[in-house]
Amino acid sequence: MHVEHLKTFGRGGIHPDPHKRATAGLPIEDVPPPMEVRLPLQQHLGDPAVPIVKKGDLVRRGQKIAEGEGTGVPLHASISGKVKPIDRHPHPTLVMAPAIVIARVDDPDLAPLEFPVDPGWRELPREEMLERIREAGVVGLGGAAFPTYRKLQLPPDVRVDTLVVNGAECEPYLTSDYRLMLAEPDAIVEGAVLMARIIGVKRVLFGVESDKRDAARVLAGVIRRLAPDGYEMRVDVVETRYPQGAERQLVAALTGRTIPPRALPYAVGVVVQNVATASAVYDAVCRRRPLLDRVVTVTGPGIAEPRNLRVPLGMLLSELVARCGGITDDATRIIAGGPMMGRALPRLDLPVTKGMNGLVLLTGRGPFEDGYGPCIQCGRCLEVCPLGLEPDQVSVRVEAGKLAETAPYGAEECYECGSCTFVCPSQRPLVQFMQVAKSALRRARDTRSVA
Ligand code: SF4
Ligand code: SF4
Repeated sequence: MHVEHLKTFGRGGIHPDPHKRATAGLPIEDVPPPMEVRLPLQQHLGDPAVPIVKKGDLVRRGQKIAEGEGTGVPLHASISGKVKPIDRHPHPTLVMAPAIVIARVDDPDLAPLEFPVDPGWRELPREEMLERIREAGVVGLGGAAFPTYRKLQLPPDVRVDTLVVNGAECEPYLTSDYRLMLAEPDAIVEGAVLMARIIGVKRVLFGVESDKRDAARVLAGVIRRLAPDGYEMRVDVVETRYPQGAERQLVAALTGRTIPPRALPYAVGVVVQNVATASAVYDAVCRRRPLLDRVVTVTGPGIAEPRNLRVPLGMLLSELVARCGGITDDATRIIAGGPMMGRALPRLDLPVTKGMNGLVLLTGRGPFEDGYGPCIQCGRCLEVCPLGLEPDQVSVRVEAGKLAETAPYGAEECYECGSCTFVCPSQRPLVQFMQVAKSALRRARDTRSVA
């Protein structure tokens, strides 16, 4: 029997039920402009955008409506219409935050702005490419929402040799990146070449999990056609294994390099960008098209008709759900993102933001609703932690109120992948324990450095 040995990371990891079948076969559908969008000024990591429109202004789709100042990026109108009073509204992560609300107006004078291709886009200098990416409001679309121009601006003393393009999409249920790889492979490959030029590397490695081999083949075909002379570009099919799409695990699988604890990938000569971000970078550089929409997988047993939708930013989740036939009677939980690292949402009157790649509606009782048991020292959480941390030790010390004693067990390194919680037979909320310990240790360190 032939056993295929695929590239993957070394330690830990789990194989949760993928739950991708409901949407993997569904192409991306464009959602028409909704009657209203709500665009939070803060939907990226960094300073919030600063409004440059006011109540009553008429705006066209594609027009800049807020400036990116400091470490932030600008924001653009995702539909044409009239600006309502700028006020605080429910936000998916910040509870309440200022947002620009646009009520749709159908008027020929408010036709969407057009973004024709700039014939000279391939020859642009690096600084101009970065400025177009910033100006287009592009952020990491894999969920992190870190401004892309900042991730591509490396510190002066840093040298990198590889761009890793992340098409692993290891979160259960989500297929938005998979369908994008099938729909827009040229834009993804062109965007990757642009980013490689910006960071000064000629080695570009795509990582795609083995349950998406057709996407890997499509990308490989485009690379054969579009890879510039002298570039080493390839697609590696990596093992379908959670959290293969985490930066550390993908870099380990593709390059064999280990990112030191708490360091960034450039510490080992690598920059990592997601496939959807690569496509947005291509649009930004090639035709100055701002980020106006994103692909969202709407799925789970709690939704009537799962779909992959290209959604205008700021559209309300309640409308998104309505477009998918509504929620089922037994739906109990709303998750933004995937179930492993996503965020539980309390309501549906929240907007789609730049980092939101999925909306998963689940049924049944949630984790920890029935409480949890004591640690029985089975060691399973230790086996699956991809970083070799000790969540069991952290958890018992947090329970005992001994937060300062959690430091040796790696609480500060935890990136909350959830693998430990997934396997714990006592259903202990290990990620939450790690979060409590991490913030206590950081607070203590900050206080010491101030004193
Ligand atoms: S998996 Fe749960 S019960 Fe087992 S050692 Fe870890 S915390 Fe304890
Ligand atoms: S959540 Fe943290 S402690 Fe748990 S497996 Fe992931 S990295 Fe390890």
